[in-house]
Amino acid sequence: MRQQQTIRKPVTCTGVGLHSGCGVSLTLTPAPPGTGIVFIRTDLSAKPWVPAVIANVRPTMLSTTIGVDGVQVQTIEHLLAAAAGLEIDNLYVEVDAPELPALDGSATPFVDLLLEAGLAAQDRSRSYLKIVRPLDVTEGDKRISIRPASTASVTYTIDYDHPLIRRQAYTYDWSPDSFIRDIAPARTFGFLREVEALWEAGLGLGGSLHNTLILSDEGLLNEDGLRYRDEFVRHKILDLVGDMTLLGMPIVGEILAIRSGHALHARLVSRILESRDNWVLVSAETHAPAGRLRELPPSLVASPQRD
Ligand SMILES: [Zn+2]
Repeated sequence: MRQQQTIRKPVTCTGVGLHSGCGVSLTLTPAPPGTGIVFIRTDLSAKPWVPAVIANVRPTMLSTTIGVDGVQVQTIEHLLAAAAGLEIDNLYVEVDAPELPALDGSATPFVDLLLEAGLAAQDRSRSYLKIVRPLDVTEGDKRISIRPASTASVTYTIDYDHPLIRRQAYTYDWSPDSFIRDIAPARTFGFLREVEALWEAGLGLGGSLHNTLILSDEGLLNEDGLRYRDEFVRHKILDLVGDMTLLGMPIVGEILAIRSGHALHARLVSRILESRDNWVLVSAETHAPAGRLRELPPSLVASPQRD
């Protein structure tokens, strides 16, 4: 419970987009209180702004993409996760290409960049969206739900018919220390047999063993091996932490996800915002859930996202 945060100074990195294969330069700069996270396409003459809110999410297969008036920014979830993990509320993200750099496929390079910039407390308190009644989104055997709790946590379960994965479950109790240590280093993964299909769809063009864990039928192609035995489920949590920032503010509740993914994460965010009786806004100054209620800005309230 505290003040909103941004970063102290601009920082820059460069890399290649995972799906587009395009080179991209990314600059993070401080933003005023109440801004949220706003992407700016500096390669376009109008330098259009694309705020990272659920109303701007565009359907994609494998990553989280936002867009306004035909201007898109793709694969934003690992940077969003780093910002959420470090409890950064306000940030401008300037990119000179339509996709963020993949870097090493985890959130750690973004965490390091944000820590290099330094965190700055701002003169406005944080608001939290506190769940008071449960919500549930399902699709076949995939499920994601959220229920009331006094803190934020995520329990994720995945199930793949692969000897290195099988059933993995992990619980993340939301905190910057745990995010940096337990979640941020977990990398994107994919299956070798799916790579060709991705290329045919014009995706994964920047993917390599430097930024993706690639699984063969029996094992792992990456010679350095895994960072954690359960790196796969930890990466799913990383993606969810990033996608939950599309709410526009931090959440208080217990999230349970089973075989979920970006599309279902986005549907949970939409369902929460639509279900106005299931949550209250709690200011950082008021600990009681029935304390000061505020209305969400209309721009945050989305029409339902469909897969
Ligand atoms: Zn990811």
